[in-house]
Amino acid sequence: MEGTEVAVKDVRDVGGDTVAIDLSNSPNWEIQPGQFVQVGLSVGEEFVVRHYTVSSPYSDGSFEITVGVDPSGELSPALAALKPDDYVSVDGPYGRSFYEDEERVVVLAGGPGVGPAVGIAERVADEHGAENVSVVYVDDEPAHNERLDTLREDGARIVVVAEDEVGEFDEAVADAVEEGGQVFVYGFEGFLADAEMALKEAGYDGEPKVENFGPEPGSEE
Ligand SMILES: Cc1cc2nc3c(=O)[nH]c(=O)nc-3n(C[C@H](O)[C@H](O)[C@H](O)COP(=O)(O)OP(=O)(O)OC[C@H]3O[C@@H](n4cnc5c(N)ncnc54)[C@H](O)[C@@H]3O)c2cc1C
Repeated sequence: MEGTEVAVKDVRDVGGDTVAIDLSNSPNWEIQPGQFVQVGLSVGEEFVVRHYTVSSPYSDGSFEITVGVDPSGELSPALAALKPDDYVSVDGPYGRSFYEDEERVVVLAGGPGVGPAVGIAERVADEHGAENVSVVYVDDEPAHNERLDTLREDGARIVVVAEDEVGEFDEAVADAVEEGGQVFVYGFEGFLADAEMALKEAGYDGEPKVENFGPEPGSEE
């Protein structure tokens, strides 16, 4: 058996074919938003594992992951169907591109990359003030709208861009970067390439913290 068995505390639909899942942090892991965990579950005869990034600002007692549900995927539909008191196997936390007490942040998020974006944004808003948060999020069917709205109302700069609005994305990235802060990038491969290009065009010469979610669902690979 891989990982540690942890209880599911809650599963919520957060819009855009996306669910947020609260998992018990019974092992008392030190987890920061932007780190990822390996989640495993038996699906039919097979034990399936995938990685998911932590989307809660804190991890005391429980932590949250945000899962974009791919109807033809193996694990994500099974995760969306979980109920409180079900168990999943969890390993981790892993990753090097996570929140490390930076006072000011720019988070570029594509698709389910909105999970770590809201987690990091809420942590910074809580500890350093929402005016130190900038999020540029690309999705045709945005998720976590309530949390994004709250951040916006508190003074964070939140820009949501449709997938084909390349010019708007480049402009939003340039504006966000101009104000400074540690840059984080979360999403599937195609989004990472667009973000890298937008950062280059904006003249950004810092070291972004980047987490690659792998090939886009439905891509050839
Ligand atoms: C470090 C890291 C962090 C991540 N964080 C998150 C996160 O926070 N949230 C999130 O939602 N995801 C995240 N992911 C992605 C996640 O791990 C899964 O890849 C995703 O949820 C899809 O898993 P699945 O089992 O549902 O789909 P899979 O079964 O893996 O299938 C994905 C897609 O590929 C297609 N496919 C599968 N096999 C083939 C094939 N042989 N030929 C053609 N097409 C095929 C399927 O039809 C489907 O559309 C992360 C990935 C990594 C590596």
